Amino acid sequence: MDRQLLYLVLLFIVGCGEGEKKESNIFFAGEIVNPTDSKVFLYKGDAVIDSAALDEQNRFAFSIDSIEDGLYHFNHYPELQYVYLERGDSLMMRLNTIDFDESLIFSGKGEEINNFLLELFLSHEDEADLIRELYRLEPTDFTDKIDSLQEIKLDELAKLVNENKISEKKEKVAKASIVYNYNTFKEKYPFKHKWLTGAQKIVSLPTDFYSYRKNLTFNDKDLTYLRPYYNFMNTLVGNMSFMSCYGDCGEGNEAVRNRLHFNKHKLKLIDSLMQEKELKDNLFRFVAFDYLLKAHQDSEKNNEEFIEEFHRLSNNNRHMDEIDALYESIKNMQPNKRIPDVLVSDVDGNQVSLKQIASKNNKTVFYFWSGTNRSHFDNLRKRVAYLSHSKPNYSFVGINLKTTEPVWKTMLETSGLDKSLQYRAVDVDNLSKSLIIDKLNKCIITEDEIIVDAFANVYESF
Ligand SMILES: [Zn+2]
Repeated sequence: MDRQLLYLVLLFIVGCGEGEKKESNIFFAGEIVNPTDSKVFLYKGDAVIDSAALDEQNRFAFSIDSIEDGLYHFNHYPELQYVYLERGDSLMMRLNTIDFDESLIFSGKGEEINNFLLELFLSHEDEADLIRELYRLEPTDFTDKIDSLQEIKLDELAKLVNENKISEKKEKVAKASIVYNYNTFKEKYPFKHKWLTGAQKIVSLPTDFYSYRKNLTFNDKDLTYLRPYYNFMNTLVGNMSFMSCYGDCGEGNEAVRNRLHFNKHKLKLIDSLMQEKELKDNLFRFVAFDYLLKAHQDSEKNNEEFIEEFHRLSNNNRHMDEIDALYESIKNMQPNKRIPDVLVSDVDGNQVSLKQIASKNNKTVFYFWSGTNRSHFDNLRKRVAYLSHSKPNYSFVGINLKTTEPVWKTMLETSGLDKSLQYRAVDVDNLSKSLIIDKLNKCIITEDEIIVDAFANVYESF
């Protein structure tokens, strides 16, 4: 789930001249150089619309009819990108997974606006360092700089609109990806400014600092899955909850520091502000995951109170099953609970449970790796070699999540790891959810099958 946040996501708008005859189907095809998976999936929101296998030339093609015009995304594991599809489109793309965003090229109908949005996205990335410096400025200077950066992008969009006569809906989405991006920086400003300048207090802001807030839309389905829009809403919820709590709930930071209290502010705010159902559900879900994944720091009573409040405000949430399952897993992974009976297989293909593995040793550390990130694995095996030497009373047990069996075995051969302590997940999804694998360097420490710390870190906990 955290991976969603790490992805560089990108919106592509596929242009379609207004004067052209509209066909009902959409053709979307492309080539993936250095593929990292055998398929490409097409999503609308979080639902799979279609999938296409890569052929021998690493090409794929979708031919789709009867889907609505709008924002989609395609996923070539582990990367995903946005694509705007409209009936009558005939879109080609090419990318190299080694340099995903920078290598991406779209051609066919609407290539102009695609390239525009690609450049827009990459320039937002390039601007990150500059924005970081701008946060140090006083509020009025900061606003001026941000507004002028935004103005440049809006002028470029206006030019494109004039030249290509793109549809209003596409223009709306493109404009939102500019405006919400820059407004997010303003929502972050008070906190970043305080942090970077080392100020004692949050700087006081001119009354018109958040003037754009009166033009926000909370009820537009076309924007729900637009990343800059979603990021903005999430930041807005954090900022407004902080400010109201800071101002209304007593002196200083005490109330804000109480996670249960503060997250209840967020739930209430989302409930009162957001209108579009999926946006609202997604923002609620984010708060639940953010709270629950750190819930091991809180008492069981607080967690229960949180989940009750969540059900009260968002009982028909489309992610409710997933959130309840996470809550259950969190409860099962508390200290002094027995390690769950999740199955893994050893190098000879025998299935064993984590409990059986943990029972063989007094103190066991389970760590996890996927194999898709080579440098992560190299660093991890060095770390494990060091720890095995410096902490001889622990057994360090590796669990691979995603590598195919032959590749996994080959990687183990050259890794220098003790193969008798290496396993592969049988059901990755079940294992990830039961053990709450939300971080790359997470590890689980057990003693005599009993959990000591299920939220430990290979680099920080020893
Ligand atoms: Zn409060």
